[in-house]
Amino acid sequence: KQNQQQQQQHQNKSQSQIKKPAQKPSLTPPNKLSALQQKMQQKLKGARFRWINEALYTTTGDKAFEMVQGDPSIFEEYHQGFTAQVEKWPVNPVDMFIKQLQARDPLVVADMGCGEARLAATVGAVHTVHSFDLVAYNDLITPCNVADVPLADGAADIVIFCLALMGTDFLKFIREANRILRTGGELKIAEVVSRVSDVAAFVAELEGQGFKLKHKDTKNKMFIMLDFVKVRASPAKLTANPGLLKPCIYKRR
Ligand code: SAH
Repeated sequence: KQNQQQQQQHQNKSQSQIKKPAQKPSLTPPNKLSALQQKMQQKLKGARFRWINEALYTTTGDKAFEMVQGDPSIFEEYHQGFTAQVEKWPVNPVDMFIKQLQARDPLVVADMGCGEARLAATVGAVHTVHSFDLVAYNDLITPCNVADVPLADGAADIVIFCLALMGTDFLKFIREANRILRTGGELKIAEVVSRVSDVAAFVAELEGQGFKLKHKDTKNKMFIMLDFVKVRASPAKLTANPGLLKPCIYKRR
């Protein structure tokens, strides 16, 4: 009951805040650095980003949560780096999810590993979007590990993981998606192409987790999109198969 109230509060909060533009936390003071210093700073930022990125891909969701909560500045640096990478892609998968949702009647959506919660900020006036990430970068976001989100069983119509299956225990994220989805609800995944070496094995694993593949979109060079429907609850036992998704190690810039 209390949990439901909290959810409701969160929902109300999210909806009332949608009209205001999300406020970004202030960054470091404007820098008055020489060209060389700026170049060095960029290099350092690139190195920090790669380090954080690698850490997130090689640890469990709860360890990542601890790490980021302990030093939230990590998140800001990670995000600047992540955004810089995805900006180079011809299409950002978030925009594809936004387009899909814009064509639908009101639904309850969970955006798992939402980053800056652009999805909620864009379609939150129509849909009820619950945005989860390791830290609350803005007020739309509930900080948590996506293996354990504060939503009731069967509460969601759609669960989205947009480039967010980062933990070595990502199958726990999938199991959590299964728990919060109603039967017939949709699981939508976008992942970096190079992470999924064996698409068939990945799909088979998710089908073992109570989902059925509905659509596979491999048209984009950088990411693959997989749409599943929840057909039954996850089995009690999790098959540990983290090898299904490789870490995404970005190249030196
Ligand atoms: N979906 C957003 C952000 C993708 S970056 C977009 O496409 O723009 C991946 C995000 O997943 C990061 O913000 C990272 O903090 C988050 N993330 C990774 N592991 C997580 C976990 N265990 N719990 C919650 N968020 C997680």
